[in-house]
Amino acid sequence: MMKKIAIIGAGVSGLLACKHTLEKGFNPIVFEARSGVGGIWSQTLESTKLQSPKSFYQFSDLAWPPSVTDTFPDHNQVMDYLQAYATHFNLLSRIKFDTKVISIDHLITPSDHHENVLSSNLWGGSGRPFSPSGKWNVIVQDAQNPSSTEVYRVDFVILCIGRYSDLPNMPEFPINKGPEVFDGKVLHSMDYAAMDDDVAAEFIKEKRVTVIGFQKSALDVAAEVSARNGTRHPCTLLFKTTHWTVPDHFVPLTFRSLNRSTEFMYHKPGEGVFLWLLATFLSPMLWIFSKVVEFYLKWTYPLKKYNMIPSHSFLQQISSYGEMTPLATDIVIFATGYRSDEKLNNIFKSTYFQKHITEPAPFYRECIHPRIPQLAILGYSESPAVLYTTEMRSKWLAHFLAGKFVLPSIIEMEHDVLQWEKCMRLYAGDGYKRHCVSASLQIHCNDQLCKDMGQNPKRKNSFLAELFAPYGPSDYKNLSQGCT
Ligand SMILES: Cc1cc2nc3c(=O)[nH]c(=O)nc-3n(C[C@H](O)[C@H](O)[C@H](O)COP(=O)(O)OP(=O)(O)OC[C@H]3O[C@@H](n4cnc5c(N)ncnc54)[C@H](O)[C@@H]3O)c2cc1C
Repeated sequence: MMKKIAIIGAGVSGLLACKHTLEKGFNPIVFEARSGVGGIWSQTLESTKLQSPKSFYQFSDLAWPPSVTDTFPDHNQVMDYLQAYATHFNLLSRIKFDTKVISIDHLITPSDHHENVLSSNLWGGSGRPFSPSGKWNVIVQDAQNPSSTEVYRVDFVILCIGRYSDLPNMPEFPINKGPEVFDGKVLHSMDYAAMDDDVAAEFIKEKRVTVIGFQKSALDVAAEVSARNGTRHPCTLLFKTTHWTVPDHFVPLTFRSLNRSTEFMYHKPGEGVFLWLLATFLSPMLWIFSKVVEFYLKWTYPLKKYNMIPSHSFLQQISSYGEMTPLATDIVIFATGYRSDEKLNNIFKSTYFQKHITEPAPFYRECIHPRIPQLAILGYSESPAVLYTTEMRSKWLAHFLAGKFVLPSIIEMEHDVLQWEKCMRLYAGDGYKRHCVSASLQIHCNDQLCKDMGQNPKRKNSFLAELFAPYGPSDYKNLSQGCT
């Protein structure tokens, strides 16, 4: 009998999961809380553009239309592209819009399950995707009519709920020191982005706006507010951690330098003696690269004048400082990120699974939790081009679901995750985030996925290209051929 697969979310990750499971002959059902596809791209600031060059943020089987000429398309162009993908591969009919999943529940009772999973050495008892005794109940709610709920019983769940949406991270303040004693308005960047453009323009018009944070969203909000309000009402950016921010023209260059020869400079998990020697011998090149970039950024921007030179290296991307002067302002916009772990945690009904998500949760191949069977998570990895890395994992997952390979034992998966963590900490230091596909080892990660799928990881047609040409989505276009 055809196995039932539920996909939760219809952003980039959900669309990819849907396309690749369909391609393998499954009949997935996608639940999407919003009324359209695109996830975060359906609700952004007016000025939001892609940060990754479009040739890396591209589906391997659908190129950007020729009308999109910018290296960094704007959010409307990204939305059009995602909609074109959904239409081209006939995905829309698979999606139940306005349908929010309120929880997922494994059908075996938590206590039995706890014993089963821990006593077995293999994921879900067999290392295979499906198990007659392991199913999920997916409990959904009509987003327009919350009192109406339904339950779907499925054999496998793919969580694509997004890391940068829905559950904002707002700092907590002591009583009488937070928004309740502030005369102005306080909101999260998510709520500002959700405003219609003219409403947002009116909201900040001639106001003193303070933006908190230094990541992409904070810089985008500050830039937009400054552009709208001009110098008469300057926007203030408050942050405790500075980062090296590279200019747009520098980004494609960085992406193009991600080839096999540069990956030789990095130590890799489980590397042999030859690769260890090579990485050790070449590692000074990384230090030189880091210093050259830092020098260039300090030379290009007045970082010193504004006390914005990060105290850590470009490779580590970490630094901090602060002061205690009261600031007069009308609006405070917190661009302080999202509580993505809590969001993931909340979707599980069982406390057994919740516990495994809140502990530093390991994801094997960045999408399988070794202790949560019949379930995969896509789009939760840090990556310089999320679409590219998620597409690779969607292909890998579809191969797994189609029975092309089995997972190693739980212990081996956990060991692999630990090895990766150790390796990443070596370069990122305290800045390491556990859901992290290393930007610098993309090709190595893809090699592992290809080998699992029984595909040749060397995708170039000459030795020199293999060593020095960058790898991107188009190199993996034909991964599924001959493998359905
Ligand atoms: C402003 C901004 C700019 C970005 N720019 C880049 C970039 O340049 N390059 C890059 O690589 N990445 C970028 N990102 C990261 C971006 O998040 C990913 O590229 C990608 O779009 C994530 O897709 P996703 O499907 O994983 O998540 P999302 O886009 O967040 O989609 C998740 C979907 O799941 C749905 N959902 C969530 N919970 C439920 C539920 N319980 N039931 C039903 N549906 C649910 C949501 O409604 C949503 O539609 C950016 C992010 C932001 C916020």
